[in-house]
Amino acid sequence: MAENNKGKREFDPIRPQTPSYNKIVCRDCKYRLKQFIHLGDREIDVGTTKDTCEKYTGETISKLKPHDVLFMNDICEFYEEE
Ligand code: SF4
Repeated sequence: MAENNKGKREFDPIRPQTPSYNKIVCRDCKYRLKQFIHLGDREIDVGTTKDTCEKYTGETISKLKPHDVLFMNDICEFYEEE
């Protein structure tokens, strides 16, 4: 089996990471960006899964939402329910 891969580099499969709207703690935080798009009758909250908010303002990379909050549904030290 290993011979079949001879000459090929081994990579972990690439798994794109996207924030999960239904799980991210920001979804009902009062500090989230309140940006919406409208598709017909539907209002889609696009601000919740962005990498900035009122607490993480994004001027520098250290002022972006923490990776684990954005992608791993971790808790956030600034979270306050709206
Ligand atoms: S303060 Fe924390 S929980 Fe609230 S929107 Fe920003 S990153 Fe999300």
